[in-house]
Amino acid sequence: MNVKITRDECVSCGTCVDVCPEFFELSEEDTLNQVLEQYRNDGRLDEGTVPPELEACVTEAADLCPVQVILVA
Ligand code: SF4
Repeated sequence: MNVKITRDECVSCGTCVDVCPEFFELSEEDTLNQVLEQYRNDGRLDEGTVPPELEACVTEAADLCPVQVILVA
């Protein structure tokens, strides 16, 4: 499963990090949600590959994001 975050529309609420801290973090630089370094695609902050064991929590985070900027496919 892949994830894509529309970071410039993130409102930094922290819900995704509360639900799935194993995959998401809020950037110390711009406070926006980003993929943890080890799961990034080509080093991108906004795209990552989700390991099977984290698919449930990433999906839950996507469902709960108030502005629906976490896309999973
Ligand atoms: S839940 Fe959505 S709006 Fe909130 S920090 Fe995560 S990506 Fe940003």
